[in-house]
Amino acid sequence: MLLLIPGPVTTRPEVRQALTRDIAPWDNDFRVFMARLLMRIQRLAGGSDSEHVTLPLQGCGHFVTEAALRTFVPPGGRILVPATGAYGNRMIRLAREAGRIAVPLPVGLTARTDPAAVARALAEDPSLSHVGLVYSETGSGIVHDVRAVGATVRAAGRRMIIDAVSAFGALPLDLSAMPEVDAAVFTANKCLEALPGIGFAVARIDRLLESGGNAGSWSFDLADIYTSALNSGPGSFRFTPPVQIIAALDVALDVLAAEGQGARLARYAENMRTLYDGVAELGLTPWLPASLQGPVIVNVHAPGDPAWNLHAFVDSLKSRGFLISNFHSTPTPTFRVGCIGAITPADMAGAVRAIDAALREIGITHREAIQA
Ligand SMILES: *Cc1c(COP(=O)(O)O)cnc(C)c1O
Repeated sequence: MLLLIPGPVTTRPEVRQALTRDIAPWDNDFRVFMARLLMRIQRLAGGSDSEHVTLPLQGCGHFVTEAALRTFVPPGGRILVPATGAYGNRMIRLAREAGRIAVPLPVGLTARTDPAAVARALAEDPSLSHVGLVYSETGSGIVHDVRAVGATVRAAGRRMIIDAVSAFGALPLDLSAMPEVDAAVFTANKCLEALPGIGFAVARIDRLLESGGNAGSWSFDLADIYTSALNSGPGSFRFTPPVQIIAALDVALDVLAAEGQGARLARYAENMRTLYDGVAELGLTPWLPASLQGPVIVNVHAPGDPAWNLHAFVDSLKSRGFLISNFHSTPTPTFRVGCIGAITPADMAGAVRAIDAALREIGITHREAIQA
């Protein structure tokens, strides 16, 4: 079964194989291993050893995003969040529930964040200390220009937090050239092609040192994770980590190093194109124009046929070896297909054939969207 979802993704057998050992997190060998793994991740983020540190946090992407918001935006502080879609909205909710004031910047699901609009919003409201941007908006499939928005944030003298969860490992990130970024956050189970259970923040050391006491949560305090690692030594954890998941991530990083990050992005882009062009040839309508379509996830308009039933479609695809999401994150009915993970353009071509067969099986005769 191939998972064609934007995380957790299809993984390689050698990655899953790493789960078969018992490991003690406090063991000195494990700490050395962990410290090395953190440095490998920091290299991928373009972090500078003197200015950045890579901090692990057990759990999912929401956890490490919340930790970054709590740590760097002070209680009651204000953060501008481009409302890019489902994950932009999640950042807004995480900030609000943590007692920060999230100010949405209207963007919509079918546009890239306009750096000039960010500049205007920051100029109009000097009390906004931060901008929180989703790099790859998994709700829409659009990749936002973190470099261009970052330059605007830098020029305005403000700070930035990047949700790079569905981007990191494939889309480029060079934090040493983005001093405005307090932290970029991501998890192991998306473009890194490892398993779910651990997240990371690549964060600025100077900002961590200024931010102690902000978090209002011991569990979700990146500054505390940092000082604790200073006291207990590199590679140490405060609380029990998912050790096997971390061991599997190290194997996944070997796989990524062998493939090369540029080649991985090119493979995902080819996966996306195979799927995007393939469904169009089947008479379906991709949700985004090709010019806005990113390499991570493709949304496709549901066929305008009364026989359409997403769950029946998903079940039929599953019986053919492809698992897609059984929900949609667009305002109008769609189905969504992830293009990331240990999958190839040939797999995507197989998925297109399976989509054709599944549409026939559930009795779809009219494939055009109700409203394209
Ligand atoms: C997957 C994802 C997250 C985090 O999801 P979790 O289920 O908490 O791991 C956050 N942001 C984006 C853009 C994502 O794609």
